[in-house]
Amino acid sequence: MADGMARTTVLAGHLLDGTGAPPQADVAIQVAGGRIESIESAGASSMDRDSHVVDLRGWWVMPGLIDAHMHLWGLTPGEFVPADFETRLANARGQARALLRAGFTTVRDLGSPISPWIRDSNCTNPPAAPRILAAHVGLTGARGPWLIPQPSWWEARVVRGVASARDAVRRLHDEGVDVVKIGASTGPGAEGFGDIPTLTVGEIRAVCEAAHRVGLPVAAHAIGSEAVRRCVVGGVDTIEHGYGLSDDVCDLVAASDTWIVPTLRTRAVRASPEAKATAREQMDTLRRGATAGIRYAAGTDSVGDAFTLHGPGNALEVELMGRVLSPDAALAAGTREAARMLGIDGETGTVEVGKCADLIAVPEDPRQDLSVLQRVAFVMRDGKAARSTVRAAGH
Ligand SMILES: [Zn+2]
Repeated sequence: MADGMARTTVLAGHLLDGTGAPPQADVAIQVAGGRIESIESAGASSMDRDSHVVDLRGWWVMPGLIDAHMHLWGLTPGEFVPADFETRLANARGQARALLRAGFTTVRDLGSPISPWIRDSNCTNPPAAPRILAAHVGLTGARGPWLIPQPSWWEARVVRGVASARDAVRRLHDEGVDVVKIGASTGPGAEGFGDIPTLTVGEIRAVCEAAHRVGLPVAAHAIGSEAVRRCVVGGVDTIEHGYGLSDDVCDLVAASDTWIVPTLRTRAVRASPEAKATAREQMDTLRRGATAGIRYAAGTDSVGDAFTLHGPGNALEVELMGRVLSPDAALAAGTREAARMLGIDGETGTVEVGKCADLIAVPEDPRQDLSVLQRVAFVMRDGKAARSTVRAAGH
């Protein structure tokens, strides 16, 4: 091409492009201007002499992972006390980099005042963070989950009534959020499932109408049948956690345009009886919801504390989903389906011509063993390599 753009050729031993198509062996992926320009058989590829070559012939190449529910709170691991803003920002930058290096090329932060800062200073080469969709701070009702006195990294604004809900959305829009987060039920807490609704259908509808008018989706923290029912009727786009649901409410969600992000990791990694009971409830709802036909995306609810460090462990979510869903469906929940849910499937989520070159390499077929997602050796985001330990791994 006469455009003079630097071109990279990725040679993939196997390509699992994430569209649902069977894997292809020995593929050459041409990348230019951050996007995938062509995908062809390596033998047939006419390689540009000046092209930079990334040799992944011993590896499985697939789309970059998406964590559709996480929090960059900037905690100092082991210290569950909020530090000053500069320290949190530095911690969060390190955690964002760890996520990218673990294969997460996109994340959605559903509540942290730190993330917009990282999102907006995120154009370095090599890239230092995933693509970030940020909610900033959440909105909740007067009985919201965040109204118990909490350290200041759990920030939420209270809405009381329809006018207040609209004003709160306008303010968030002015502040540059990518998504509006609401807390529509209590919990989860040590006391149990925490399924008390905190917002009325009228308040939820007011938030959704105001947000949709300015092109913003709404994500709702909601646990239990009544809170989830109100969210679906009120028109939210995504339900976060979404467990403890009756079969009727599973059917209601399945018949709507609403997605669920089950957030399994945060409970699965804890050993307390409450966490184990919640984890069982989550798996039970996921099993019944999948049968009902609910659409799912993977999101961990990781916060970067000692239990949920940001990094390779975020990919545990896909493995946990794979205990209920098929391996293909679990992989899609962490890639293609998550991109669809976030409205960025024209940009990422699959390895296809025209999309951003968001690629990772894993040592084996992930459909045979989803735990290989925690052993990502190569990461490219927007055509720029963010990690390569391919040689060190001995291939
Ligand atoms: Zn969360």
